[in-house]
Amino acid sequence: MTGEAARPLLLVENLGVEFATDAGVVRVLDGIGLNVGEGETVGLVGESGSGKTVTARSIMRLIPERGRICSGRIVFGGTDLFSLDTRSMRRVRGRSIAMIFQEPTGALNPVLTIGYQVAAAVRHHHGVSWSEARARARQLLEKVQLPDCGARFGAYAHEMSGGMQQRVTIAIALAGGPRLLIADEPTASLDVTVQARILQLLREVRDEFGMSILLITHDLGVVNELCDRVAVLYSGRVVEEGPRSAVLGRPHHPYTQGLMGTTPSGGRPVEGTMGIGPHAVAGYRRGCPFLSRCSKAMPICGEMEPGPARVSRHHRAWCHAVDGVRAG
Ligand code: SF4
Repeated sequence: MTGEAARPLLLVENLGVEFATDAGVVRVLDGIGLNVGEGETVGLVGESGSGKTVTARSIMRLIPERGRICSGRIVFGGTDLFSLDTRSMRRVRGRSIAMIFQEPTGALNPVLTIGYQVAAAVRHHHGVSWSEARARARQLLEKVQLPDCGARFGAYAHEMSGGMQQRVTIAIALAGGPRLLIADEPTASLDVTVQARILQLLREVRDEFGMSILLITHDLGVVNELCDRVAVLYSGRVVEEGPRSAVLGRPHHPYTQGLMGTTPSGGRPVEGTMGIGPHAVAGYRRGCPFLSRCSKAMPICGEMEPGPARVSRHHRAWCHAVDGVRAG
């Protein structure tokens, strides 16, 4: 991938999500725009509370209770996902779009063998016999390089390490042959060596299955390893997006610069190093959501929310201080 947006497989336009809280209605996503091309890996980066996971759950139409999608549309492979009935959307989940999570333990059933769980996923998506499903499950567990997978077919999740469990959840995700894999902090709970192996595995299955990946992470090192493009989220808005090399190499938004500044080795941001963190959306009224934390703030920043400034052909930042063609 060159860092240019490939032919879009997933298009997210003007996505808004609200939650009812005891303090009133809180807008947690406000006009999110995003696209993921065929075969592309896009990183969605931001700290806890920036809206990354809500964005992913909106794509799957799995918003928690008290939340609602209040604006926008999500188009996947030419189909508007918000127009689908519940049954059709259930078919999209797993078969067309699969998701893996930070904690593989929570995604696996502790009382069923891992072989059974992978085979059940194969049967669910393809309606084949149990013997065919078990054979396919074995192949998938080999594909994700589960060590000694023949013997582990009848093992339970608690008998495995976190890295092995994550390999099993990837096998389950692959069972439907998805075109898009949403990986929500897939390596956050793993140590560095295991993390590198799982990232390598994701790269291999992406290439072999021709999948796209939307990678949700707060870890810029992970983005650097795997992503073609990146979108940086702050307070429920995209504040910078573009090719990975441009955004991480020459960040323009003060928030991205802060993230980079707190990660000299390109690794995990150190929370609080710059005093940056998720904006209190409920208290936000007007102007730039990053205003109270920005060292470059100008009078206009308190008056007007910044629109996108095009800093190069495919690189945009939402900041009044950025020199660039205003894209409206
Ligand atoms: Fe800072 Fe203003 Fe840019 Fe917002 S618009 S990030 S307050 S300079």
